[in-house]
Amino acid sequence: LSPVPADIDIANSVEPFPISVIASEIGLDPAHYELYGKAKAKVLLSAYDKLKASPNGFYVVVGGITPTPLGEGKSTTTVGLCQALGAHLGKKVVTCVRQPSQGPTFGIKGGAAGGGYSQVIPMDEFNLHMTGDIHAITAANNLLAAAIDARIFHESTQSDRALFNRLCPADKEGKRVFAPIMLKRLKKLGIEKTDPGELTPAEVKRFARLDIDPAQITWKRVMDVNDRFLRKITVGQGPEEKGMVRETGFDISVASEIMAVLALTTSLADMRDRLGRMVVGTSRGGDPVTADDLGLGGALTVLMKDAINPTLMQTLEGTPVLVHAGPFANIAHGNSSVIADQIALKLVGEHGFVVTEAGFGADIGTEKFMNIKCRYSGLTPQCAVIVATVRALKMHGGGPEVVAGKALDHTYKSEQVDLVKAGCSNLARHIQNTKSYGVNVVVAINAFATDTEAEFSVIKEAAIVAGAFDAIVCTHHARGGAGAVDLGVAVQRACEQHRTALNFLYPLDLSIKGKIEMIAKSYGADGVEYSAEAELQIETYTRQGFSGLPICMAKTQYSFSHSASLKGAPSGFTIPIKEVRASIGAGFIYPLIGTMSTMPGLPTRPCFYDIDLDLETGRVLGLS
Ligand code: ADP
Repeated sequence: LSPVPADIDIANSVEPFPISVIASEIGLDPAHYELYGKAKAKVLLSAYDKLKASPNGFYVVVGGITPTPLGEGKSTTTVGLCQALGAHLGKKVVTCVRQPSQGPTFGIKGGAAGGGYSQVIPMDEFNLHMTGDIHAITAANNLLAAAIDARIFHESTQSDRALFNRLCPADKEGKRVFAPIMLKRLKKLGIEKTDPGELTPAEVKRFARLDIDPAQITWKRVMDVNDRFLRKITVGQGPEEKGMVRETGFDISVASEIMAVLALTTSLADMRDRLGRMVVGTSRGGDPVTADDLGLGGALTVLMKDAINPTLMQTLEGTPVLVHAGPFANIAHGNSSVIADQIALKLVGEHGFVVTEAGFGADIGTEKFMNIKCRYSGLTPQCAVIVATVRALKMHGGGPEVVAGKALDHTYKSEQVDLVKAGCSNLARHIQNTKSYGVNVVVAINAFATDTEAEFSVIKEAAIVAGAFDAIVCTHHARGGAGAVDLGVAVQRACEQHRTALNFLYPLDLSIKGKIEMIAKSYGADGVEYSAEAELQIETYTRQGFSGLPICMAKTQYSFSHSASLKGAPSGFTIPIKEVRASIGAGFIYPLIGTMSTMPGLPTRPCFYDIDLDLETGRVLGLS
């Protein structure tokens, strides 16, 4: 493999097709999309409604082995595979990927458009504002945050009656009315009255006072910047707030529950319900307080109404891509949206392919794809691709730690067949776990210039022994779709020969602990240990009626276990659950195994040092 130019240089060297050309090739009627500039379009939900009755294409999920901090090329392989299927094998194909957060793009990691000759373009538009979805999420999230503090403030300064009268002001005829959204709250409280004048003083109090406990607010503000100094802040310090200060903090926007809602929703009506159901904290009486209790479900839906439409873009070889949502892969489920996949499966039709990427290693991304995303969408994948690299397998076999930003050790630049062989235990467990869902597993060995044939042979053999349908060496980073044709053929065969039903890892009606323990077992753990706080939270969620939700483990991506240093396929460990939280609107419970940072920081030498604008051509320079 000859040296491959920088990602941005390759991306800039290709003039994208007008997006209307891509839309027309995939059969999208102009009535079903809206142009955002020349190279992007929002695909409307009406595209799905029109094709609802037609058959779905094959559904392929791309996961990976336990990665190094450098990434093993899941996005690159997702794009390369689609370029192979679409531009070289003549298949109808749509790539479904997540929108990256701007924080990492300017911080440590860089963008997420794929790499080399397998990228989504225009790469700068993909990595930066795109069509504004993340900004919409930020706006919606922060409106809700503002509403919480304002409500506590108003409740603290007004009598029950004054509060009630302001919430239900009199109309022109002098008659007080409930806003339609308030009827939900009345129903929740069991008050069967529609005329505000009929409420008793006790009912007035129950209706008007949410009585949010400031110490139990779980909703934070968000921003799409790696700003570590906002991790913990104090709000309410202005004199007008009358001393109502409290500690809170910012998360990065993609960590917002609204992002997870966007990713899991199946329709506009479903998004409205989920946004309204989001729990922001607990009342002093122990009841969950929702966005609808604060009167906000409708307004949040309005702010998100365009974000619900996936963005159509293209690969370097002109195949269509739907970019949509980008939830965290630890505190959320880390997969692109159900809506994009639903639309894509209809667009490609029978015999076509939708390739969707899952975050992190298969223990996290693919597990959540199956048990959370597919459970909500009702969609069934036929094939799962597991991306493996010689580099990561050497690390799992005992090679030195790979650290982002540091030069790779000699081990990673020379043939090390024994280390690769030993590291294949990691690949084997991912294959076995993924296969248990009832899909055919194809291993994509993402080739790097320093890898050798002997190392590839070892991986192929180990993959087949572990039960993979096939294992293919691919060179799409250096050669684009031409380098993934064999992978495309293997994926096609795996889909066509698929016969088994989707098999979830756990049933939803199992207790919260029962579900956690089944997932922990799939990691190789012997057992699970709960902190006193986690025990209490599990009890509370069960009492509040949330125990039937799926589980979204918030765990390190660098090991099957809770400890990033345990490489390969560890066993005999106990998973410690420190805390259990819930995203009720998105629809999952998430146990925290270790501390998860939801607001990254900037390093001493962030990516932004390299980023500039070419003032003559207007092109973005230095994005990676
Ligand atoms: P992931 O999705 O697994 O995090 P990416 O696809 O984003 O990984 O790839 C991570 C980085 O590695 C990108 O900068 C990409 O260009 C680079 N990369 C991926 N595959 C190769 C390869 N075969 N050779 C060289 N660099 C690669």
